[in-house]
Amino acid sequence: MRRLGAAVGLMVASSMLALPGSAGAAESSIDRAGLTVDEIAAQLRHDPVLVQTVMGGGDTQGAHERLTELASELDYPVYVVIGLQPAGSPRNRPGEDLAARLHQRLGEGLYVIHLADDIGEVATWLDRYDQFEMSAADYAASKRFYTRRPEDNKSIEPTLEAELTLRVAAAKGLKPSDAVLDDIAETASAHDAQLDPEVVSEGWDSETALGKRRVVTVATGLFVLLSGLVVAIWLLRRRPSERRPDGRPSRTDAIEKTRAGAQQLADQLERALDTTTSRLDDPLVESALLARDQIRRLLGSDDIADVAGVQVLAQTGLRNLARVADRRLRPYRACFANPLHGEAQTTSPLANSTLEVPLCADCARSEHPDVLTVRGLFRTHPYYDRDDVWARTGFGSLVDDLPHQVDAGAAR
Ligand SMILES: [Zn+2]
Repeated sequence: MRRLGAAVGLMVASSMLALPGSAGAAESSIDRAGLTVDEIAAQLRHDPVLVQTVMGGGDTQGAHERLTELASELDYPVYVVIGLQPAGSPRNRPGEDLAARLHQRLGEGLYVIHLADDIGEVATWLDRYDQFEMSAADYAASKRFYTRRPEDNKSIEPTLEAELTLRVAAAKGLKPSDAVLDDIAETASAHDAQLDPEVVSEGWDSETALGKRRVVTVATGLFVLLSGLVVAIWLLRRRPSERRPDGRPSRTDAIEKTRAGAQQLADQLERALDTTTSRLDDPLVESALLARDQIRRLLGSDDIADVAGVQVLAQTGLRNLARVADRRLRPYRACFANPLHGEAQTTSPLANSTLEVPLCADCARSEHPDVLTVRGLFRTHPYYDRDDVWARTGFGSLVDDLPHQVDAGAAR
């Protein structure tokens, strides 16, 4: 949720960049392009908090001051980078990549990185806390924060996300009090109020506010247009299914049942990751962590394929954690025809096709296997007719690295 929230916030921030007038005249040229990793490291040596104006949410100076004060309260090195992606960043997880490169140059510490068009990254190289401890605590606090702030459930600025992380780091047992969370919520609300059309301050900030207003106006118009279309299509398609004569459970029931199963598996994976004693840089553990991130993103989806995909991601993550201890275990492969059937038992042609795929025992025998169907615009069809990551990978049954593929698909 945290990562998703950050990603949404960043999308808004980065879409501002495309709008003429959203970047103020006072903005330095260095802010228009990503710095190189060496330049970032050099700046951090002088000042461990780097907030580029384009990502400052209209209050770069204030954010810088608050973050600097919070960082100074910790008795280990803290580095904060909130800005554009450095030139030459990898497409996949640029924040994680930057954290590792900065660690090579600056050494141990807590690295809090929020880059445009990327999810937030909290990386730890410290004796006191391991990487997972800190990011798990950060996630838990973020979850509490968003639960306590249900009135709008909006993602907060990357600068406030970073503030939350530093408050977590400073808290006893890495558990900030409710008062601390409310304090951040208050800052967020004050910031939202600043974006109110009536409130236009002077200078660069006002230009930012105007830029955001323009984004909001355009986005609202598009949203109204698209939601009208979606509602119309939904109404057109809804009528026949409401008269189900056979009394079979509706599609909504099916997706909720699938989600309940997915949630259980997801919880199992979270617990397993919470208690793992394996090295976090083991590729199998990394893959399980990636699966967890993608599960958090997809669990609330209304697409049956996404929710089924969560089940497979969780099984894949759990198996990969088990494989750390026992390398002879095979990677998890779901039944290609329908991942909800569980693990594939054999490889065999699907129905009358010549395509040999991993299948469960029932599907291997059947001439009419129970293939997972998804809704198209006007009808349901086999999931593999679509062009998404589930179709391309057969829910991971045709590839070795489903979590990476899903992650890469999300970044596209
Ligand atoms: Zn099957």
